[in-house]
Formats: sequence, structure tokens, C-alpha cells
Amino acid sequence: MSDRARIFATRSLAGAPLAGLAHRCDLDVWPARTAPTPEQLASRSRDADGLLCLLTDRIDAALLERCPRLRAVSSVSVGVDHVDLDAATARGIPVGHTPGVLTETTADLAFALLLAAARRVAEGDRFVRAGEWTPDRVWEPDLLLGRDVHGATLGLVGLGAIGQAMARRAQGFGMRVLAWSRTRRDMPGVAFASLDSLLPAADFVSVHVALNADTRGLLGESALARMKPGAVLVNTARGGIVDEDALADALRSGQLGAAGLDVFAREPLDPASPLLRLPNVVLTPHIGSASEATRARMVELAVENLLAALAGNPMPHCANPAVYARPT
Ligand code: NAP
Repeated sequence: MSDRARIFATRSLAGAPLAGLAHRCDLDVWPARTAPTPEQLASRSRDADGLLCLLTDRIDAALLERCPRLRAVSSVSVGVDHVDLDAATARGIPVGHTPGVLTETTADLAFALLLAAARRVAEGDRFVRAGEWTPDRVWEPDLLLGRDVHGATLGLVGLGAIGQAMARRAQGFGMRVLAWSRTRRDMPGVAFASLDSLLPAADFVSVHVALNADTRGLLGESALARMKPGAVLVNTARGGIVDEDALADALRSGQLGAAGLDVFAREPLDPASPLLRLPNVVLTPHIGSASEATRARMVELAVENLLAALAGNPMPHCANPAVYARPT
């Protein structure tokens, strides 16, 4: 590695890997809890050789243009829809990400949302806290009736790492599992299906594709209308894959029974979003990978990616491997 590479880390990240980075590089860490604005990001990255960023930092062509020294971008995330990969590749900049280490943790949250939406867990919690569980309503035959998960059919939209982890969980709960993926993958106990045949057959649909130009709006009005009436939608992938207005309409009309959502087209969720006013939606603030161990492992991997690139080696986990095929 060239002497004392300059790194800008867009957030303070706890743990030994960042301390190790500070030992080997000139490390500038954004001091605030909140993300830098695009202008702040550009001005702090201007002289950086490497960028350690989060999914809230937009790394677009205009930013890269303003960072002539930049040799590596490393994101503490598996999704890289916040990075213009083509622009980075064109400039010879490898973009690191953190696949694998957050798979099980994210699938845990997806299944938690599925269960919570099916069994009305958040509604039950609100009911108790609001003091509505009164002596005259100790046990009612039709109080908060939900849907059975066991014996139901789960449709997976995307059978990558997290989709497969979700399939394993569903099998443990006695669900029948259908899956659609761009690349056909055979997995024991999972029936591969077209999206057209999966949507009307599934009682629960869980989204696990990456967000890109092909998948943006994949679950729009017409796809939601093709889902089984009363079905439950779970999205822990990216908000832009589902049309939120169409989803709110489908939930309001009863076409869909419930939803569990961790990701949104715009984050944080707009206070005016109709989803906030629907009782049959369980909402979490993009916490799919949020366990202590997983977040620590993500930072470790992101720092490994950064150090490899700055040393002139291929990143262990590169989201734009085409960068290594470019003529030098
Ligand atoms: P992965 O193993 O790379 O799987 C990605 C899936 O997306 C694969 O099924 C892939 O199909 C599909 N896909 C990619 N580009 C596509 C396209 N153009 N058209 C159709 N399908 C396409 O990734 P993963 O680890 O399972 O993660 C999936 C996504 O979950 C991430 O991209 C990220 O956005 C999201 N995520 C969210 C959280 C959270 O906190 N809520 C945490 C982790 C991840 P192929 O197999 O054909 O490539």
C-alpha cells in the first residue's frame, strides 16, 4: 500500500477494524450521527484514496468526478444500489460490499415480519398498550384473528442468498415454498416457478431481489393485483422494488391482507405515507442486518475490501468485478 493512504469514513463505526484502519491509514471519520449531505460528502472525499461508506451515501458519477485520487469505494452493505457501479468501473474504481455475513440475520427479520403480519403481533401490542385489553374483553373468540403460517404457501421473489435462507426458515415452519429467480436455482423442497404462476398461488410473498433498473417497480399495481386475494407481502430487499402507493391501495381494498416492510422507496418513510395509517402493515426502519455480531462482521469485511484495494489487490468481495477486466 502506498504510504498513509487517505480514507474518508462517512460514519463512526464501532470496533477493532476501524481502529486497525486508523493505524494503517490517515483516517478521517465523519463526526456526526447523521449522514453527510452530498456536498459535505464531496468536500470530505475530495482528497481521499479510499471511501468507507454506508447505503445512505449516494456515490454517483458527479461525486466520483470530484474525487480524482479515489482508488476504492467500500460499502458496509450487501446492496449497492446507492453506488453508480458503471461510473466506478469506468474510472477503474472497485466497489466493495459485504455479502454472506448478513444473510441469516436479514432472513431472521424477514421471517419475523412474516410472522408479525400474519399473526397481527404489532396490532396486539398496540391493543395492550392502549389499555383496550379490559376485564370485559379478557378473551374474545374473534379478537385479532390472523392467518396460519404453517401449511401456507410462501412465494419467494429472488432466490439469492437471503431468499434461500428464507426458504430454509419456511420449511422449518411447515410451509410449501415456491421461488422465482432470474437465474434458475434448484433447492431441495423448493418448487421453481415463473413470477406469473407464483403470485396467484402464494399466501405469503417475500421479496429478495437486488434493486436495479430491471427490478425497480417489479411489484407494481398489476403484479399486486395478480396476488392471491388476502395474501401477505413482506419486503426486506429494497423499497423501490414495490410500488408503495399501489401497495397501500391493495391493502386498503382488501386485495392484500397485510404487509411487513423493512425498506421503503424513500427512507426515512415520509410522515405522509398512507402506509403509516394502515393497521395491517408492520413497519421496521431498515434493520434487516441489525444484530451486533452481524454489523461487526460487515465492518470487518468492508475494511478488508478497502485494505485489499489500496494494497493493489482484488477486493475479496467486489460488486463490480468487471473493473478487474479493464485494460490498464
Ligand atoms: P444476492 O445473493 O446477490 O441475491 C440477489 C437476488 O437478486 C438474486 O436472486 C438475483 O438473481 C436477483 N437479481 C439481481 N439483479 C437482478 C435483475 N436484474 N433481475 C432480476 N433479478 C435480479 O443478494 P442477497 O444477499 O440475497 O440480498 C438481496 C438484497 O437484499 C440485497 O441486494 C439488498 O438490497 C437487500 N438487503 C436488505 C437488507 C436490509 O437491511 N433490509 C439487508 C441485506 C440485504 P440472480 O441470481 O439471477 O443474480
